[in-house]
Amino acid sequence: MGSRPVVEGWFSEGEEPALTGSRCTQCGTFAFPKQLAFCSNPHCDCDEIEEASLSRRGTIWSYTNSMYKPPHPYVAGDDFKPYALAAVELEHEKMVIVGQVAAGVAYESLAVGDEVELVIERLFSDDDGDVVTWKWRPVAEGASS
Ligand SMILES: [Zn+2]
Repeated sequence: MGSRPVVEGWFSEGEEPALTGSRCTQCGTFAFPKQLAFCSNPHCDCDEIEEASLSRRGTIWSYTNSMYKPPHPYVAGDDFKPYALAAVELEHEKMVIVGQVAAGVAYESLAVGDEVELVIERLFSDDDGDVVTWKWRPVAEGASS
């Protein structure tokens, strides 16, 4: 029994978890999920792409309250409860990454422009243990790091 990621290789865990994307060594274009075979910038023919840890923080660009079981890889399991989904613009890359909002955070408390940080939380459990994924958690006001 232990925990395992919902998708292998999409994020790191530990003290400071981060999404694992890729970055073109030539034009600097980021991609998530990582795209190592070619650059996702159509005007760039570089094929030297490296793995990159993406920003752990961003701001809410849009959000919604999801009442339905989401599609793969946002597996909700059998103990499905409505949850908030946030589209977050990453601080540095300016990419928008959709993820669930951390457990216990009320949809009503969210606002466009709020700062959030990435956390790894349980998505569901099965016979082999917990399956975890990334979620967005609002950064407490006044907190600094
Ligand atoms: Zn490129």
